[in-house]
Amino acid sequence: MMKTLYSLLLEVGENLEAASLSQLTHEEAKQWIARLKQLARVKAKSFMDSDVFHEKAIRSLDTRDNKELDWVGNQLSLQYFGRPCKVPIEWDKSLKNAAGYFSFDLRTQRPLRIVQSMWQYNQFGAQHVIGTLKHELAHFHLFMEGRPFRDEDEEFKQLCHQIGAPLYALAMKEGYVTSCSACGGFAGLEKKPKKKLISRCCKSSLDFGSFVLIFPNGQVVEVEKE
Ligand SMILES: [Zn+2]
Ligand SMILES: [Zn+2]
Repeated sequence: MMKTLYSLLLEVGENLEAASLSQLTHEEAKQWIARLKQLARVKAKSFMDSDVFHEKAIRSLDTRDNKELDWVGNQLSLQYFGRPCKVPIEWDKSLKNAAGYFSFDLRTQRPLRIVQSMWQYNQFGAQHVIGTLKHELAHFHLFMEGRPFRDEDEEFKQLCHQIGAPLYALAMKEGYVTSCSACGGFAGLEKKPKKKLISRCCKSSLDFGSFVLIFPNGQVVEVEKE
């Protein structure tokens, strides 16, 4: 349910602090979702009535092939960079540890493709994909201009701010917070509480804490496991 709420917040462009997100009761979260769904419908409708491309009007994407994804990517490219994207934009069915990436040939320095995680789309929706595409397009266009194009480059970060793209194209992580029973250090997220796991630091058993979502922007929200 928090994931639905999160992708709707993104779609509508509203901001709800992580702190208040985690304090919502089940009932309140439901009300938020209903209200945001209504808002999203009204918003999308107003954009669909105009003939110009508007990213907020995109509510779903065809995953049967790359055509629509490639089209949307190129519209974003034209809108934010004034040029089409010269490499193919493709779905990846198995990519889970990143929302997407831009790849190029190290030896020839030729750009290859932009890849988008289908899993991310199925989990968090079309607006999440749009954010990722903008991020990857920023990598691509800076690369083509021979400018600093990596995540850690200042110019890249500034460009992301300018076009409203996320700074990291990371997927959302979820799981139980675990800590080392010997030293108490953070030992990562685990999908299921398993007794056999041991910590890397002290080779001791793990203590399992609350179930959390870590948003791509680093916000950590405690949630009930769905
Ligand atoms: Zn990146
Ligand atoms: Zn330890």
